[in-house]
Amino acid sequence: MRKTVTELADGRELVYYDPDGDEVRDATDPRPPEPAAVRPELRLDPVLGDWVTVAAHRQGRPYRPPAGDCPLCPSRGGRSTEIPAADYHVVVFENRFPSLSTQGAGRAPDSPSPLFRTEPGTGRCEVVCFTSDHDASFADLSESRAALVLDAWIDRTTELAALPGVRQVYCFENRGAEIGVTLPHPHGQIYAYPFLTPRTGKMIARAAEYRARTGRNLAEDLLAAERLDRRRLVLTGTHWTAFVPFAARWPYEVHLYPHRRVPDLPALG
Ligand SMILES: [Zn+2]
Repeated sequence: MRKTVTELADGRELVYYDPDGDEVRDATDPRPPEPAAVRPELRLDPVLGDWVTVAAHRQGRPYRPPAGDCPLCPSRGGRSTEIPAADYHVVVFENRFPSLSTQGAGRAPDSPSPLFRTEPGTGRCEVVCFTSDHDASFADLSESRAALVLDAWIDRTTELAALPGVRQVYCFENRGAEIGVTLPHPHGQIYAYPFLTPRTGKMIARAAEYRARTGRNLAEDLLAAERLDRRRLVLTGTHWTAFVPFAARWPYEVHLYPHRRVPDLPALG
């Protein structure tokens, strides 16, 4: 994998990920810099105790633009997009409308009530374009291109986890207008949070409680139990098992477990 780190006109970082080879990325962003008014803040939900991100500036982001105005397509035919190059394999850049930011993170004025606690929305939000093909999807990617996306996820997880104040890095893809996706171009996102998200926090607490009670590893025991039961298995490979979880919450839900014990994405290699 070849990684080229560049900067957009407004100072946001943009990184190309190409297969090993002679790809040289030297296109510069010709657009005038337009610094966005970015002031995300965190608010503590006084009832649940969860941190909630409030990012009012996101109301100004492009909402389902026509294909000819897609900001995630390469820059071609005189039209400048978020990606200055005329083509790309996989590209990652800082979201122009981030929910969390290392710059200009805001905070509501102090409230007289201790119930209204706020913190600056410090962190980072990145966009990952899987392909320059506007009409493709992740499922259309070749094995080598999917591997390049994984390389990008692993690299970004390593980089973002090292930022000061970041407690969790989460790579994800929301797909479809039904779940609120505003750009149909095949892409995912990465959030670097300054707090542990509630679901992850709960999972870690459960695993710790299971360890204290049984002396065993919850993920390993769960994987062994699903493989023994067999009824929910979707795929059993050499290195991975995929299954529908026992207490599934969604009409389509599959969990992937590696057979080797690893702490995070980068440790998968
Ligand atoms: Zn596009």
